[in-house]
Amino acid sequence: MDEKIGWLKIGEKEKDEIMDFSRDYMEFLRKVKTEREAVTYFLNLAEKKGFRPLGKGIKKNGKYYLVKNEKAVAFVFIGDDPEKPYRIIASHIDSPRLDLKPAPIVEDKDSHLVLFKTHYYGGIKKYQWVSRPLAIHGIVVTKSGKKVNIVVGEEEDDPVFTIPDLLPHLSRKVQGEKKLLEGFEGEDLQLLISHIPEKDEEKSPFKKALLKLLKEKYSIEEDDLYSADLEVVPASQPRDVGLDRSMLGAYGQDDRICAYTSVRALLDSRPENNTIVILFDKEEIGSDGNVGAQSNLVEYVITKVLDASGRDYSYGKLLDIMHSSKVISADVNAVVNPLFKQVHDMNNAARAGNGVIVTKYTGSGGKYSSSEAQAELMAEIRNIFDSKGVIYQFGLLGKVDEGGGGTVAKYLARYGMNVVDIGPGLLSMHSPFEVVSKLDLWSAYRGYKAFIEA
Ligand code: MN
Ligand code: MN
Repeated sequence: MDEKIGWLKIGEKEKDEIMDFSRDYMEFLRKVKTEREAVTYFLNLAEKKGFRPLGKGIKKNGKYYLVKNEKAVAFVFIGDDPEKPYRIIASHIDSPRLDLKPAPIVEDKDSHLVLFKTHYYGGIKKYQWVSRPLAIHGIVVTKSGKKVNIVVGEEEDDPVFTIPDLLPHLSRKVQGEKKLLEGFEGEDLQLLISHIPEKDEEKSPFKKALLKLLKEKYSIEEDDLYSADLEVVPASQPRDVGLDRSMLGAYGQDDRICAYTSVRALLDSRPENNTIVILFDKEEIGSDGNVGAQSNLVEYVITKVLDASGRDYSYGKLLDIMHSSKVISADVNAVVNPLFKQVHDMNNAARAGNGVIVTKYTGSGGKYSSSEAQAELMAEIRNIFDSKGVIYQFGLLGKVDEGGGGTVAKYLARYGMNVVDIGPGLLSMHSPFEVVSKLDLWSAYRGYKAFIEA
């Protein structure tokens, strides 16, 4: 057992490096809670390192980026020949949350409260989102096209929002007789928004007052909420976890931990291979849409590179390039939860602190919906990681018939690319406070860097 514990394999110097890297990562998580915010943050980092918009002309050792709809982005390094195979690291920057409905406002005359209705996004356990401070992040676009940025609930003196739970005194039947996951239902996830009524207003005094406030504060009308991307996220901040500060807890680590570590790996390395680090949206709801991994974004990026290089190329050439490219699907896995060991197969489960997890296949019951990494690619990864001293482990999500999950791996495999899932393991995945071992965070960064530089 000891020989697998990552913390026993490192010296004091590397431990300091881990703590420094964790602080940078926490700072990122503090500022970034949505996919749009992630794109802005990473563009800023990349531009400082000389990355420029992908357009006309490709230089040797050129650094470029391509943004799609402010919600997905690809960072591209081109070595000496844009037609050589690519090393690609793909992750996602959306996280489970609550979205405001297009018509969110509910004036509840019985309680004298105004609420916002939401539709949850991705796989959440609904009860985890109640009775906690929540923030609203996003944009409202007026009919004339003006974008109003909204972030409420992050500054210390900002108000926050919350979904009111029922007191235990009155919960005996209405919640007590239900199954845990049914205690709250989708339509119950409504936020407290306001409470002071407008004077001399007969019909909707509470709603009127709220609309007045929205107009004053943000210059928006009720109808403008129809053209908005507004996301409800935990208002809490990332924190060190544990007396030894060995872990880090925060919202949105699935999968911004892989986005952060892979972008940092690219910015900090000296690649020779053509490299793409791509960050998708919409993974948590099936990777659909034109910013999800099921779109043609990867194909588009490589095509744009070839276009920019000014060479003639055929569709066959493009397919040749894609079929010979290699991909890390960078997404989180689970580590053994000491309170629910029964869901793990201990032979194949990953442990916190044993390093980044190499996952041969995801999917569920009968390997369904998995692209599965080939033995040859698994061997190549072992070789790269061992030669660069990356601390890593192998792991599968859980017991065979316990459930399952997927990543963007299979959508990249469609292009003929060889793909393997590699990412750190979390505790409390998809909750408002996901926990990672700082050693695993660091190992993910080291692993992605080794792949890029190999
Ligand atoms: Mn994920
Ligand atoms: Mn997820």
